[in-house]
Amino acid sequence: MAYELETLAIHAGAIDDQSAAAVAPPLTMSTTFHHDPDGTTPRGFLYGTLDNPNRKSLEAAVAALEGGRAALAFASGSAATKSVFMALRPGDHVIAPTDAYYGTTRLLREIFDGWGLHATFADMADLAAVRAALRPQTKLVWVESPSNPMLRISDIAALATLARKAGAWCVCDNTFATPVLQRPLQLGAHASLHASTKYFGGHSDVVGGAIVLAEDDALCARLRTVQRYEGAVPSPFDCWLISRGLRTLPLRVRQHAANASAVATFLALHPKVRAVHYPGLASHPNHAVAAAQMRAFGGIVSAQIAGGSAAAQALCGSVRLFACATSFGGTESLIEHRKSIEGPQSPTPDDLVRIAVGLENVDDLIADLEAALATL
Ligand SMILES: *Cc1c(COP(=O)(O)O)cnc(C)c1O
Repeated sequence: MAYELETLAIHAGAIDDQSAAAVAPPLTMSTTFHHDPDGTTPRGFLYGTLDNPNRKSLEAAVAALEGGRAALAFASGSAATKSVFMALRPGDHVIAPTDAYYGTTRLLREIFDGWGLHATFADMADLAAVRAALRPQTKLVWVESPSNPMLRISDIAALATLARKAGAWCVCDNTFATPVLQRPLQLGAHASLHASTKYFGGHSDVVGGAIVLAEDDALCARLRTVQRYEGAVPSPFDCWLISRGLRTLPLRVRQHAANASAVATFLALHPKVRAVHYPGLASHPNHAVAAAQMRAFGGIVSAQIAGGSAAAQALCGSVRLFACATSFGGTESLIEHRKSIEGPQSPTPDDLVRIAVGLENVDDLIADLEAALATL
């Protein structure tokens, strides 16, 4: 289909409903499907973990949005991440960002390392450091840009080239940007990964994950095997909810980014804010790379508050419109003292709050932050 993103978001993955000609997609909860005595499946569906109509529809939509050849849906973003690691073999080596999503870091350190899949954590913004981390066994370069919660930017095209030259897969966690703002497959990555829990679902009411593959290749085949037989698949209703979220993804993500940009600009000028991390600010150290590979700069802003951890926590307790809660991607704005969530081992600065800017009127959001900052 040669349609633009907004059109694909609404029409890709449409289900042709034979029973009622419904316009909104039907939900098929069945775990099993009629097959012929010889095992032939008339509509291609056999059993729930292998495939089901709502998962198939979701996967077609996600593949279309990322411009990929295939997509695989999982029960969570972490299940998708874990499936990429499971597609590798003991003895293989992974290069991952020093500031990868904390769950990804913990998976590598606490689970996969013991299974013989070893990781080196590198500053992905420093290509020389990534090159130095390469080993003959390196099979995967994990990219996350913007990163969480420091909003660091790495050059996806350069990292994909580096990985390909080394014979490694380049997988980009594109949860923060979504295909609306950034297209890792077009920048050379083999796969793009999503916590659908965030912007894809978009309403803080469903957990899910997805991987989109640039090619229907060996990585794709291996991941499909992991998906089907390792069993961390989403329920049909979860797929239905995420598909529903996708239909407004372009609209929502653009508004999240516009609101976040205004919030970042406000915070950057506030005397009680020591530093603001947002790739859309000209002061961001990698603003130029961000501007080259992103259409807008996303809905998350991190800020370091003068007065340290106590002041950062007080801010989270003083805002009224922002919910003090983790996650992002829903319609409502959230704020949290990130270090309290990640734990004492986390490298996240003590005075940092992460703000997930929602879809409220941005003047209301800024007024709320202004009032809360005034109490510090
Ligand atoms: C939330 C998140 C994940 C994990 O997704 P879950 O659905 O919570 O398991 C992975 N990567 C990033 C960037 C995330 O924000």
